[in-house]
Amino acid sequence: MAPVPYDQRDGFIWLNGKLVPWADAKVHVLTHAMHYASAVFEGMRAYGGEIFKLTEHNQRLHKSAKILDFEIPYSVAELDKAAREALRANKLTEAYVRPIAWRGSEQMGVAAQHTKINVAIAVWNWGSYFDPAAREKGLRLAIGEYRRPDPRTAPVESKAAGLYMICTIEKHRAERAGYADALMLDWRGQVAEATGANVFFVQDGVLHTPLPDCFLDGITRRTVIAFAKQRGLKVIERAIMPEEMAAFSECFVTGTAAEVTPVAEIGPYRFAVGDITRKLMDDYAALIRPANAVAAAG
Ligand code: PMP
Repeated sequence: MAPVPYDQRDGFIWLNGKLVPWADAKVHVLTHAMHYASAVFEGMRAYGGEIFKLTEHNQRLHKSAKILDFEIPYSVAELDKAAREALRANKLTEAYVRPIAWRGSEQMGVAAQHTKINVAIAVWNWGSYFDPAAREKGLRLAIGEYRRPDPRTAPVESKAAGLYMICTIEKHRAERAGYADALMLDWRGQVAEATGANVFFVQDGVLHTPLPDCFLDGITRRTVIAFAKQRGLKVIERAIMPEEMAAFSECFVTGTAAEVTPVAEIGPYRFAVGDITRKLMDDYAALIRPANAVAAAG
């Protein structure tokens, strides 16, 4: 059965201050954001009714908007409350939460100083981002052709819609070739990240991950670095050249949607789904659902 399109689902979407029936959360074709990519968004997950890292995500939404030269007309606290309301209104406890802020249709053309800033929060049930079998076998990634841009070329610290243009192209290219996703290099030819998740490697028991100086410093990335360090693992953030992947034994990607997912293959390089990756997957599962840790211990 074909999945129900995203504009035809049941439930409620929080739109500019109130909950509206799902199908009524519409925009006009002459919306600045659709023509000029003046939109920023977030992706969060709720586990057992609680939205994980809710405030951090809404702070990042504010920061993303500022970088794109607009102000979100709701405080972080108001957005936190709105996201919880959207979750409750849809009677969901396990969910993906998608806030988005965009410039409206008051002005057309590149200048958009007088557009209204709109905000919506949609919530839906979104299972595993990758094929669940990948948790055992590891993902297969292609190496993408487009490069993550130089920070002088694009607002790389913002989770801006426009930055995903090259991600969608690369994801499609990878899927057509039978891969789950693409690993993207940056403008210097260094390893950057996947199309919607950060990347880590293991070498001799040490974690290596690229410095996020031209791509999103994921909230999951920071979470994993913090608990890896707490567990005594050494974590090195540095420039990583693609050829170095030959010497890495394990690899995994991190992201709100992807969580911690092992990688078995990137282009010509092969990795094992090893002990460190499995441990960090378990640790992440315990962190997002403290009940798991209790169950595992008991
Ligand atoms: N990079 C990109 C391009 C992403 O879209 C995401 C998902 N938001 C991430 C990294 C991971 O970020 P986070 O852990 O904050 O979800």
